[in-house]
Amino acid sequence: MQTEKLYYQDQYLGRFTAHILNAQIDEKGRFYVILDQTAFYPTGGGQPHDTGTLNDMEVIDVEEINGEIRHYISGSMEVGSECVGEIHWERRMDHMQQHAGQHILSAAFEEEFGYKTVSFHMGKELCSIDIAIENLTEEEAYEVEKIANIIIIENHPIETRWVNQEELSNYKLRKEVSVSENIRLVIIPDFDYNGCGGTHPIATGQVGSIEILHWEKQKNHVRVFFVCGRRVRTQLHKKHKVIQNLSALLSSPQEQLVETSKRILEGTKQLEKIITHLKQQLIEYEAESLTAQSERKQQYKLIKEVFVNRPIAELQQLAKNITSKSDMIIVLLVNETDEKLQLVCGRGKGTSVSMNQLIKQVLPTINGKGGGNDVIAQGGGEKLIHPDELMNRLVEAI
Ligand SMILES: [Zn+2]
Repeated sequence: MQTEKLYYQDQYLGRFTAHILNAQIDEKGRFYVILDQTAFYPTGGGQPHDTGTLNDMEVIDVEEINGEIRHYISGSMEVGSECVGEIHWERRMDHMQQHAGQHILSAAFEEEFGYKTVSFHMGKELCSIDIAIENLTEEEAYEVEKIANIIIIENHPIETRWVNQEELSNYKLRKEVSVSENIRLVIIPDFDYNGCGGTHPIATGQVGSIEILHWEKQKNHVRVFFVCGRRVRTQLHKKHKVIQNLSALLSSPQEQLVETSKRILEGTKQLEKIITHLKQQLIEYEAESLTAQSERKQQYKLIKEVFVNRPIAELQQLAKNITSKSDMIIVLLVNETDEKLQLVCGRGKGTSVSMNQLIKQVLPTINGKGGGNDVIAQGGGEKLIHPDELMNRLVEAI
């Protein structure tokens, strides 16, 4: 069922009337109608479908399948009835701007540097083209962006022409067209000749402007991200907001933001070094103080201490520090956090109790897990008993 494609006759048509030729439910259970004519552009050629309404019913999706243009709608409609279609114009205009902008950008890359575009993607926020090169320099990107914007400002016409296979040879096309009949050419005279089924504004000026944002290296090409038209302003607003916020946070004018950030990061690194050093010193003092308070048992000295919310790594350091300076010593450290109980047990070289076996004896009482070796072991579990009780059990287990 052939639908008259009104978007090819007048790309600015935003409202139209049509008759419903067919109404169906597809394999996914979605309801769609086929019209005798439509201004709704279906997804294709890198351009997303239009949205809008048919008799005030939302058109959610438009697809061309086997020559049929399916309008997926939120309700149902009767075959034979008439309907009024309305396109969400802001979305369509945006698509036309991005699409025409891509033609201009790709042509500028090829004209200036001979870089070929291999694919185009129009995202919700950003667009991208893949160009068949290894590397793109800052200068090249800047130059291409400049040329593209000149083409926009000079307001060249964007023409479309239907041609057949034989007529194709009259045009200097950027790449071979993928269809053999009903070939549609989109032409910016003396600048760009392309086979394309999308919608474009009538002249380059309506693209507004084009901005290359950034690019990234892919396997065999470079992906260039860009925006056109209204999206340039959206991006500018967004970036400006970020800069303003950063500027206020760092009390630095825009021009000095990078320098200021570098200085702050460098300062943080220095502080981290100092903190690490101070922590080591603290552990040292703590170890000395705990050693001084140790209980003398028959064959060894015992240190036992219960902490609240200490990082386990710090307690491991503490235990190692103490046992490295004293051979005949056993250190039992218990830590209570908001959710769990943890323990670190260590011993000096002169004692023979296995710390690994020691913690394995008490861990079941807190439903815990852990391990280590004969000289140091650590673990943790649930808060099923009081930390002092856990300590008592450790002492008993020695
Ligand atoms: Zn196009």
